[in-house]
Amino acid sequence: MNITVIGCGYLGAVHASAMAELGHRVVGVDVDPDKVAALSEGRPPFHEPGFTEILQRNIGSGRLTFTTDFATIGGAQVHFITVGTPQGPSGAADLTYVHAAIEAMLPHLGRCTDGAEVVAGKSTVPVGTAARLEPVIASTGALLVWNPEFLREGFAVEDTLHPDRMVYGLPGEPDGAERARAVLDELYAPILAEGIPRLLMDYPTAELVKISANAFLATKISFINAMASICDAAGGDVTSLARAIGMDTRIGHRFLRAGIGFGGGCLPKDIRAFQARAEELGVGEALEFLAEVDQINEETRHHALVKARSMLGGSLNRARVAVLGAAFKPDSDDIRCSPGLAIASELVDEGAQVVVTDPAAAPILARDVDLPYDVADDLEDALTAADLIVLATEWTQYTHCDPVWAATLVNGRNIVDGRNALNPKAWREAGFTYAAIGRQ
Ligand code: NAD
Repeated sequence: MNITVIGCGYLGAVHASAMAELGHRVVGVDVDPDKVAALSEGRPPFHEPGFTEILQRNIGSGRLTFTTDFATIGGAQVHFITVGTPQGPSGAADLTYVHAAIEAMLPHLGRCTDGAEVVAGKSTVPVGTAARLEPVIASTGALLVWNPEFLREGFAVEDTLHPDRMVYGLPGEPDGAERARAVLDELYAPILAEGIPRLLMDYPTAELVKISANAFLATKISFINAMASICDAAGGDVTSLARAIGMDTRIGHRFLRAGIGFGGGCLPKDIRAFQARAEELGVGEALEFLAEVDQINEETRHHALVKARSMLGGSLNRARVAVLGAAFKPDSDDIRCSPGLAIASELVDEGAQVVVTDPAAAPILARDVDLPYDVADDLEDALTAADLIVLATEWTQYTHCDPVWAATLVNGRNIVDGRNALNPKAWREAGFTYAAIGRQ
């Protein structure tokens, strides 16, 4: 099929490449000429395992192209909207990019001669958005589907090609819904053939599935971080606690690792946007708990700082601190709402001399000349002469770091394990004072 993907960021560029991998002819459109140039040359503008391969393979096959020219979308059968929906000043989602994308698309819709033409929204939007957009899309003869995306950065290629489930939010009118379903089923046929569940629903439910899934995940993380605070106060061990409660299959182990909290381009903004939308709908009190989830997430970073401070005798002033990890999670270079960078800035505010490193995000940081901290190219550089180490992102390079080797580089043997990802025994045996979140 001929398809287009409007917005080629973390979601859109991977989606475009994955759709080409399925055999479709894909045009990716973005307003950022630098991004389009990089993608066109097969250079990924961000770090994502497996992405370079499918990007280059499909550019090579001629099935995948990138452009800034919206006129190229005319005649395609499916158009995905994958532009950003960042947090606006009030906390609500800013839909400027969605509206701008649709405005740019409109003159070129309604030209498909292969059958029903579908606009499929993948961006995470406030509930009610699709219903408001539908008449505009329908005026061109195209059908609107909301097809939210659940991929995880770090596993984006795998998740796009082998998702847990597909959600189609369909138009209310039965004939339109049936035609739109058929088009998406044809597009996703190789994925659906694996037996992936495909769930049909209305627009508001599809929009809510995405945002409520993220709200649940954020809540789970803040729950275990709240338990870490209790463990710290009461002398318990949150890792044993998480292991034990996770064995209850109703609870499960995933997202129960206490640490310095969640970040990235989705969870923080999505829980705030969800609260703002609930307020607009007059049911703000139903989501008041998400403000607590957000608050716990902020406080858990301070927890790490308190530990760092007490490790260095009550003051971080002039201490050299190595922060390992700037990406909000391993296998990504996404530094949006990065817990590690938030901690790095707070350390600087306390007078510390901070050096940050990250296997994927360091080059991005290094481009910023106004940073209040230094950026090291690699682990060895960062550890050299450090008085304290803070593990902020559980990259394998860091969790597998040999503490005996690290001890030969540092000035002071102190480590705060902000992800509960290290082996405390090994680090203590190498002479380090080790502290973690919610552990003695
Ligand atoms: P991003 O900022 O990486 O990418 C957005 C892209 O849209 C940018 O390349 C930008 O230049 C482009 N853009 C902006 N305005 C445009 C326009 N008018 N026309 C064409 N392109 C335009 O954002 P992202 O992380 O890819 O997220 C996109 C959406 O997907 C958001 O709603 C996000 O919540 C959702 N989402 C993201 C993920 C993820 O893991 N990143 C997962 C699921 C859902």
